[in-house]
Amino acid sequence: MKKISLGLCLLLSTYAFSANLHYSLIKKESGKEGSTLLIIGGIHGDEPGGYFAPMLLAKHYKIESGNLWVVPNLNFDSIVKNARGINGDMNRKFAKMEPKDKDFEIVTEIKKLILHPKVDLTLNLHDGQGFYRTRQINKDFNPKAWGQATIIDQQNMPNAKYGNLAEIAKKVNQETNVDLIEDVHEFNVKNTNTKEQDKAMQQSLTYFAITNNKPAFAIETSKNITDLSHKVFYQLKTIEKFMNEMNIKYTRSFELSQETIKKLLSDDGILEIPPTKITLDLATLKPYIKFFPMSKGTLVYNSTNPLVAVLKEKDEYKIMNGNILVSKLKPDFFEFDESLNSVGLIIDGKKISAKIGSLIRAKNSFQVESINGYRVNIIGYSKNGVTNEVGIKVEPKDFIQSYAIDKDETTYMVQFYKDKKFCGMINIKFEDEKKSKK
Ligand SMILES: [Zn+2]
Repeated sequence: MKKISLGLCLLLSTYAFSANLHYSLIKKESGKEGSTLLIIGGIHGDEPGGYFAPMLLAKHYKIESGNLWVVPNLNFDSIVKNARGINGDMNRKFAKMEPKDKDFEIVTEIKKLILHPKVDLTLNLHDGQGFYRTRQINKDFNPKAWGQATIIDQQNMPNAKYGNLAEIAKKVNQETNVDLIEDVHEFNVKNTNTKEQDKAMQQSLTYFAITNNKPAFAIETSKNITDLSHKVFYQLKTIEKFMNEMNIKYTRSFELSQETIKKLLSDDGILEIPPTKITLDLATLKPYIKFFPMSKGTLVYNSTNPLVAVLKEKDEYKIMNGNILVSKLKPDFFEFDESLNSVGLIIDGKKISAKIGSLIRAKNSFQVESINGYRVNIIGYSKNGVTNEVGIKVEPKDFIQSYAIDKDETTYMVQFYKDKKFCGMINIKFEDEKKSKK
C-alpha cells in the first residue's frame, strides 16, 4: 500500500465554476533584483503552442534572479473551444474597444499588467501560418507567412530598456536556430512595420505595449508543425533565450528536449474538487465516467495545471486540458456533508487510516471498516441484499471493470454517505505485484 503524493502546493489554480473562465497569473519571483519578463499565452484559443509552453513554464521552472510573470491562458474561453476567438479576435482589441465587448474586462486587465512599472518586456505567444521567409519560395514558405518567427512592430524604441527590438530578436533567433528538430524549422525576424504598414497590427497587444514605451515581441511557432511537443520545444527555447538576454536566471526540473516535453505534456495534472476533496489524476482518467457525485451548489475546483477547466454541457461535465478533452463526467447530484475526514481500511490484510479524497493502492484486496452512521457504496461491486458494503473483503475479480475510473480499469470509487448526503470518496487502485516493483 502506498499513498500517492500529489504535490498540490506546487501550483494551485482555483476556479469557481461559471460561464466565463478567467486567466491565471503565476508570478515567479526570485526575491533578487533583476528584470521582469511577462509571458502571455493563449490570446488565440486555437494556437496550442502558445499556451502549453507557458503552462510548462509555470509548472516546471524556478527563477533564481529577476522575475518571470506567466499568463498561460489569456483567452481561456476560446482555448477550451479550440477557437481563435469566440468573441472575435482578441488581438485586434488593444487600440479601442466598446465597453460592452465580452473581452473588455480581460483586455483592460491585461493592458494594466503590461504597463505595470515592474514589467520590462512582454512576449505574446502564437502559432502562425506556414514558415516566415523574407523571399517568396512557395505557398508555405514566404514573406506573408507567420510561423517560426519572432515578430517586431518596428526596428527599435530609442527610449526603452530592451528597446533594440530588431537586434534582440535577431540574436535570440540565432541561438534558437542551433539544434533544430528539422532544418526548415529555422526562426527569422519579421518586422511588420506596424506604424506605417499594418492597420490590423495597430490594434494588437504588442503594438499597444510599444506605443506605451514597453518593449514587446510576438513569438510564432508554425501551425504547419503538427506535433505539439515540437512547437512547445521551440517556444520554450526562445523564451529561455529572452531570459538570458534579460539576465533572468532560471532552473528547470527537466532536460529541454522534444522527448521530455512530450512526456511532460502527457501529464494532464491533478484535479481536486472540494469540499469533500475528490482527487482525480487526469492523465489516467477514463474518457467517460458515470455515477460521479457532484454537489448541487456551485462547482469549485483546483488543479495543478492552469489549463484545466471543468465545463457544464447539458447534463454532463467536460474536463478540459487546454483544447484537449480529458474526460466527461456524468454526475449524480447530492447534498454534501463534510463531517467525515478519514476512514479505517484493511489493505492486503493491513489496517490503515485513509483520508477522504485520497488515492490508495492495493495489491490483492481491501475492506472498509464499519463507521457509525455512514453507509459505504463501492462502485462496480455489488452483492445481493447488501446496501452498506462495509466489512466485506473485496478483490479485483469482484468488480465489473467498466465501472473503473481509469484507462487501465484498475481504479474504483468507494463512496461514503450519511442518510442521503454524500460525504466523499476514496479511490482504490489495484496494482499487480510485478508492476509496482518496477
Ligand atoms: Zn495568433
